[in-house]
Amino acid sequence: MQLFTFRYSLLLLLCAVLVGCEGAPPSDQVFQGKTMGTVWRVTASGLTPEQAKQLPRLIQQRLDADDQELSTWKKDSWLTRFNHNPSLEPQPISDNVATIISSALYVGRMTEGAMDITVGPLVNLWGFGPRAIPTHTPSVSQISAARNKVGLQHLTLSDTVSGSTLRKDIPDLYVDLSTVGEGFAADHLARLMEEQGVRNYLVSVGGALISRGQHQQGQPWRVAVQKPTDKFNQAQVIVDLQGHGISTSGDYRNYYELEGKRISHIIDPSTGQPIEHHLVSATVIATTALEADAWDTGLMVLGTEKAKALANKLHLAVYLITKQGDNFVGWASPTFKTFLVNEPEK
Ligand code: FAD
Repeated sequence: MQLFTFRYSLLLLLCAVLVGCEGAPPSDQVFQGKTMGTVWRVTASGLTPEQAKQLPRLIQQRLDADDQELSTWKKDSWLTRFNHNPSLEPQPISDNVATIISSALYVGRMTEGAMDITVGPLVNLWGFGPRAIPTHTPSVSQISAARNKVGLQHLTLSDTVSGSTLRKDIPDLYVDLSTVGEGFAADHLARLMEEQGVRNYLVSVGGALISRGQHQQGQPWRVAVQKPTDKFNQAQVIVDLQGHGISTSGDYRNYYELEGKRISHIIDPSTGQPIEHHLVSATVIATTALEADAWDTGLMVLGTEKAKALANKLHLAVYLITKQGDNFVGWASPTFKTFLVNEPEK
């Protein structure tokens, strides 16, 4: 069995191109650290010395709090406790959880279940969650047993006068927020910047980014979608985020090989199998990084043609990279083109 998992990789698919992806100009301040099995990075300009001193601690605190609430990797997180609680009664949830679940359920409906945050049993079966990578390909009966525990119809989010609640209708439903957690956390960092009076920043958590304002040289923050190669500094397209969030989902760096087959970390809930089509990455720009992060995985599951159709129908800002023979072919939706600062390569 050959293993090729790169937990930090998608961050590198999207990076500030101020100085060729190596970092920001010296006058911008850069802070970075680890969270949620990946890395966070904040580049900000115009900070006071006091802001610069306080920010790293405040950022890490906020991310640690999100991790403690939303992780399926921590035994004592709120989400792990929800997953292990067999109760079918509505459970009170925080505004944070309501926000992330509501966004994920919306994209789940719009993709007809391709994006499904109850996919956890299948993710774990294929070894992309906290459980170890399997030594043999899961059997049809194992996949079928896991699929019986999956389905958005089993999860109900409700608003009541005393707050939001979440209810499952099968005891072993397992919610996995891995696909949206990074976008949610990036938005959270953006909110922290606003609360701290920082007006010019680019923040990222894993493969999700959001920016406001300009960098120190008075230019807008620009972000590169990287070419799907092993070389990290080759830009396929460059976008001006215009205050939006952006996220990329790809399957060419987070995978392993098992019994001669390439196993992607993106699972098609309708088959219970890792995706096998030729869509290599999907990048989405949306109002928030959370929305972008929810859409990118759903589009990856759908594959190139269905993803294009949905992007056109819903006017989503989407950039797809598809493998055709030995080549990678890019496609930008009309809405995505409004963010482009270079002509995409054919
Ligand atoms: P994305 O494309 O954004 O999401 C793919 C992931 O979503 C898959 O890996 C799978 O988990 C899930 N998924 C697969 N198919 C579907 C589908 N059809 N619908 C919905 N979801 C699907 N990783 C660690 O190694 N250690 C940790 O301690 C850890 N802690 C975490 C804590 C939190 C709160 C979160 C949100 C994630 C954590 N992770 C951890 C996971 C990791 O950081 C990434 O989120 C994960 O590897 C996927 O992110 P991505 O951007 O690579 O892929």
